[in-house]
Amino acid sequence: MDLIIANSLGRTQSGRLTIHSPSRWSETVMEPDRHFSYYPFFLASLSALMKRETKLTVKMMDGCLEKLSSDQYLAKILSVRPAFLFMETDSTLYRENLQLALAIKRKAGTRLLFGGPHVTHDPERALSDGIDYVFTGEYEGAVLSFFKSKKYLGTERIFYSDYSIPFSRYPWPEDEDVSRMDYAVPGEPSSQYREIQMYASRGCVGQCPFCVAKNIYYRKSGHRCRALHDVADEMAHLKKKYPQVEGFFFDEEDHFGNADFIESFCSELIRRRSGFKIEALGRFNSIRTQWLPLLKKAGYYQIRIGIESLHPEIQRAIGKIIDAEKLESFLLLCRKTGINVYGTFQVGLPSSTREKDLFTLSCIKKYLVLGWLSHVQVSIFTPLPGTPVFLQLKQKGYLATELFEDYNGGEKSVVNWPDYPSHDINRTYLDFLNIRDHVQLWMRFRTGEAWTWFYRKCRTQSLYNLGKKIKRRIYSEARYFLGRKKNQ
Ligand code: SF4
Repeated sequence: MDLIIANSLGRTQSGRLTIHSPSRWSETVMEPDRHFSYYPFFLASLSALMKRETKLTVKMMDGCLEKLSSDQYLAKILSVRPAFLFMETDSTLYRENLQLALAIKRKAGTRLLFGGPHVTHDPERALSDGIDYVFTGEYEGAVLSFFKSKKYLGTERIFYSDYSIPFSRYPWPEDEDVSRMDYAVPGEPSSQYREIQMYASRGCVGQCPFCVAKNIYYRKSGHRCRALHDVADEMAHLKKKYPQVEGFFFDEEDHFGNADFIESFCSELIRRRSGFKIEALGRFNSIRTQWLPLLKKAGYYQIRIGIESLHPEIQRAIGKIIDAEKLESFLLLCRKTGINVYGTFQVGLPSSTREKDLFTLSCIKKYLVLGWLSHVQVSIFTPLPGTPVFLQLKQKGYLATELFEDYNGGEKSVVNWPDYPSHDINRTYLDFLNIRDHVQLWMRFRTGEAWTWFYRKCRTQSLYNLGKKIKRRIYSEARYFLGRKKNQ
């Protein structure tokens, strides 16, 4: 085998399952029912590109999808003894992925190529750790040119993005060595249907200083789209290949970033009478409210937006201004049109205090009760290595730890602001989770959606996992009432 393209390992030494998402935030979870896999789209594009453009024998493997421990992954990769191994890793899993890769190198003489945010942040360090070649930023073009031009015969060790093949001319991503359908079940927890993850665009014009995609992968503002017919053909092909698929999740930085694309794409879906259930992630300020009826008609049932905070001072500090009035009228219109809105928020952002975060929480509560937000995702602000905000916090001494295993955004704050220490941020985070879970649960009962939720989960989860989920919900309700009692 010439080249193995490998996603991260799927089970850490401490037995936690990996939800790897290097261009955003990866997470590890202890509970099997919380695990799902993101389709590793950069790796999958690389795999398809290498197969189309070279004669090398190439195979893609996904340790996360298969929940492989280091030993299992090692045995699997060694069974084909690849000449080269390419891995993409984030910071939280770098150490364990490195150990695995070095063991492969020792046993099979494999040359190691690494990409992803952690090595982009400090390529020299990765080389001194034993990696042979580092690919920074958006790496597919650079890896292709590395093999086509036999750069492994030269002395260069660090490679930068190469755009000789534009994104719009990329082949459809890998679907042979890994099945795209396998990522749809159980699928992303808030997806309501059996949805394949799709990518019609890359990039965003936003300026968020914490954003890995913009600051580390693309390293500039901008938005690129594929040809809309190519995207619609890919969807039709996947439906034919996987008749059980019900819809598609455009898990992009800004699905709505190009007005011409969105309007023509919706018209094309309507013309084809595709009938797909579609959800998409985008930047709030790119979405035009007049699109909502068109989006609905084309099959969009859910829009995901990153709101982060509703406090004006925090919005200014992170350069992401979302006008409250505009947001509220958008949420109301979505509700009237019958499109769900999934909002993502962060606690402990730059300029935040507990009071400012609790202000955002009060708005979230209101929107949930009004049915304007259907899902709320809350994370703890985590400055990932390589982002501008990481460097600023490091220089000012505000990082509580540089143990990157802790940088997962879902457990504890790694930041100590002078007037908002990490333990207070953790407390606020728990308040957000308890109140969100409580309000969402009661809203589901009030609107009769609880049974729909139960039915959907039955279709994508094993009975055992469903039981675990329900148990966790009961615990979270108990936590909510205990918390209320304590505060009285
Ligand atoms: S809006 Fe989203 S994708 Fe765009 S820069 Fe901000 S976090 Fe990144």
